[in-house]
Amino acid sequence: MTRTVYVNGEYLPEDQATISIFDRGFLFADGVYEVTSVLDGKLIDFAGHARRLQRSLDELEMANPVTEEDLLEIHRELVRANGLTEGLIYLQVTRGAADRDFAYPSEDTQPTIVLFTQAKAGLADNPMAKTGMKVISIADERWGRRDIKTVQLLYPSMGKMAAKAAGAHDAWMVEDGVVTEGTSNNAYIVKGNTIITRHLGHEILHGITRAAVLRMAREAQMKVEERPFTMEEAKAADEAFVTSASTFVMPVVEIDGTPVGGGTPGKVAARLREIYLDEMRKVAV
Ligand code: PMP
Repeated sequence: MTRTVYVNGEYLPEDQATISIFDRGFLFADGVYEVTSVLDGKLIDFAGHARRLQRSLDELEMANPVTEEDLLEIHRELVRANGLTEGLIYLQVTRGAADRDFAYPSEDTQPTIVLFTQAKAGLADNPMAKTGMKVISIADERWGRRDIKTVQLLYPSMGKMAAKAAGAHDAWMVEDGVVTEGTSNNAYIVKGNTIITRHLGHEILHGITRAAVLRMAREAQMKVEERPFTMEEAKAADEAFVTSASTFVMPVVEIDGTPVGGGTPGKVAARLREIYLDEMRKVAV
């Protein structure tokens, strides 16, 4: 099926959508993105993603080409035009096209904005939620402003390839002896009654799913500690899991070949996944 995508104000068939070869997203990775999931044809935590988009743009002094209201309308129109009931919507904004120069172009340069959908049946009923995922560890060799959701995804891409080569599903990144996050998700361990995840800072992406899941965990009287943890601590944990907009809450059952929590998904991850999906479906737009 030919998808309808959105490019700079127009809805077009995907094979007719183009951007300039001088786009700074292409030349300098001078762009940011967001990913919002769709369940039952509705957007999950749209407001959270719109807020983080604005923050990423502000941190890079990049103009926002659309209001939040317009952005919601574009997301909804793409859901409608593509008959999307379950899947993802990708949004990319770059500083636009300008003659190649490291310095930012003049302020009247139009930012580029692109949105496209990906249908994914079984996003909520992902069989991996029952079996869990395997992760390996790799050094975190990304740049220092991982809190900005830029389109520089080469290192995470290399991490996924390393995981695949090792027969695992993903990689957790380690810096200064502690885990920062997964290549495309936030990382957690559970010890006793306590959920432990890296505190916010420039070192990790401030996951929109993370914020919602931690709020729900606290509301359910679970104990949360936001602090760094080591791989040794992770391997000895009772449970491990990750969160992201595309996987929600996903159990981790093996870390660097060591089974975690007996090698089967844990109760805390299962409960949080259920609470998260229930709550978010109720307030989806
Ligand atoms: N960390 C990284 C590096 C990511 O790429 C992602 C997913 N975009 C996340 C965390 C999770 O963020 P979110 O819950 O907002 O999808």
